[in-house]
Amino acid sequence: MTDNTPTMPVAFIGHGSPTVILSDNRYTRAWRQLAENLPRPKAILVISAHWLTRGKTLVTAMQQPRTIHDFGRMDARLFEIEYPAPGSPELAQQIEQQVSHTSIALDESWGLDHGAWCPLSVMYPQADIPIIQLSMDYTQPPAEHYALAQQLAFLRSEGVLVLCSGNIIHNLRLMQLPEEHGFGWAKRFDQAVVDGIAGNQSGSLMDYAGLGEDATLSIPTNEHYLPLLYALALAQPEDVVSYPVAGFAYGAISMRSVLWQNAAYTVNCRS
Ligand code: ZN
Repeated sequence: MTDNTPTMPVAFIGHGSPTVILSDNRYTRAWRQLAENLPRPKAILVISAHWLTRGKTLVTAMQQPRTIHDFGRMDARLFEIEYPAPGSPELAQQIEQQVSHTSIALDESWGLDHGAWCPLSVMYPQADIPIIQLSMDYTQPPAEHYALAQQLAFLRSEGVLVLCSGNIIHNLRLMQLPEEHGFGWAKRFDQAVVDGIAGNQSGSLMDYAGLGEDATLSIPTNEHYLPLLYALALAQPEDVVSYPVAGFAYGAISMRSVLWQNAAYTVNCRS
């Protein structure tokens, strides 16, 4: 890569329900704006809450990943959406070769799950940037995910955007429709995470179980939270942190997105 390749930011997107993308709203506007403000990526690596593997870590290596409609009964329009972005077998191979912490295998069967294509279809509607996905091995503790993610740091200097897609708070059992305000515990934990990010407290964010009952309610299962740890592991001390959008859905889902951006390339993003 050339010397003038900018250090790519790292993004965490709080994706929420797939139905978010069916209307123009503050989240879709923020995601679109975010993409417009970023340097154009050569490729995107997505780490999504919706690709969990048991005892192994996979990276998609097909030329043309399929669009996976991995949700139950939903608005029929969602099933008609295709996101025909190409894959990047070369990038998948490079990751497989460069990451030594964990053995990563090439995958030909996954594609793009809704944790990937929902935000991407808003951010990059042309679907003309190569996309690959990395699975999360759900048998591994948070510290292992963090250590693996640290070895993906080379991607930032090679023009690849790492897009981590989940939700800081995700408790489906406690959701209440149409509650748009966060419940007390959700607001407190959302703020605790912001404080943790500001204080570079990756250790306590990784060890979230020690953060008390608010954390227990916010992270009943950790698949939506883990992508945040991948983003934290890729953050560098010289990054500027901003929050392109924040808010709550159904009281129990945090829609907060986070951006880490090299100070030299910081663009206007609302904090
Ligand atoms: Zn999700």
